[in-house]
Amino acid sequence: MQSIRFVLVRTSHPGNIGSAARAIRTMGFSRLVLVAPHKYPHADASALAAGADDVLEGIVVVPTLVEAIADCSLVLGCTARRRGVSLPEITPRAAAAQAHEAAATGEVAIVFGNERTGLENEELMRCHAAVHIPADPGYSSLNLAQAVQVLAYELRLAQLEAQPVVDAGPRSDPPATAEQMEYFFGHLFEMLNDIDFHKGRSPVTIEQRLRKLFQHATLDQREVRILRGIFDDAQRMARMAKSRAEG
Ligand code: SAH
Repeated sequence: MQSIRFVLVRTSHPGNIGSAARAIRTMGFSRLVLVAPHKYPHADASALAAGADDVLEGIVVVPTLVEAIADCSLVLGCTARRRGVSLPEITPRAAAAQAHEAAATGEVAIVFGNERTGLENEELMRCHAAVHIPADPGYSSLNLAQAVQVLAYELRLAQLEAQPVVDAGPRSDPPATAEQMEYFFGHLFEMLNDIDFHKGRSPVTIEQRLRKLFQHATLDQREVRILRGIFDDAQRMARMAKSRAEG
């Protein structure tokens, strides 16, 4: 979340700056950059920020968009209507997924235009994609701070959904111990031999890959029992097939 900044370009109404600060603060973000705001600082900004003072205090003001995004590896520009600019147009959800990924390794900017005129074509050309909130085509222009809220919400969802499922709550069974995993792997590899999975090839590489796969999965004890039950059955079937072939 620290790698994502919200950039407001040439904002006319200071109240919108305050509302945008509140919007991003509620979704766990803190970085707001203003490009050539018409009126800032202003009492309306503080009033509408409604206590999101840490965001207001951290606001950075710069004269141009180029400076606001200089160190960013992903820049997404939000537009209320289609422009004569050939940029891929994506939804806030797709934007959030891209931003979440890019934020792992670099800086990301989400850019918003002026209340009346939006972003200029030249500014949009500096973006990697245009984000459009799929509003009613007959009335597609949201209030600036509300557009900021939609993007901040989607970014928060993308972040929450990316958290590993194992952290979601207590698991029903205790996790398998290292010793249980060793018996599990022994059983798995023995079963693969019994069903002639390797067919004369070396088992080394596939065994390493399977180890990695099941270590990632962080199995619990019940899951180990279920899988070993399946291995038992596979071995039983292999024995039956063999004795039939021999008989
Ligand atoms: N008449 C302007 C409206 C600007 S609204 C225009 O046509 O662009 C102010 C800012 O809010 C926009 O520049 C954009 O960043 C954001 N915004 C408003 N509605 C939006 C929408 N439907 N999708 C994406 N961004 C939107």
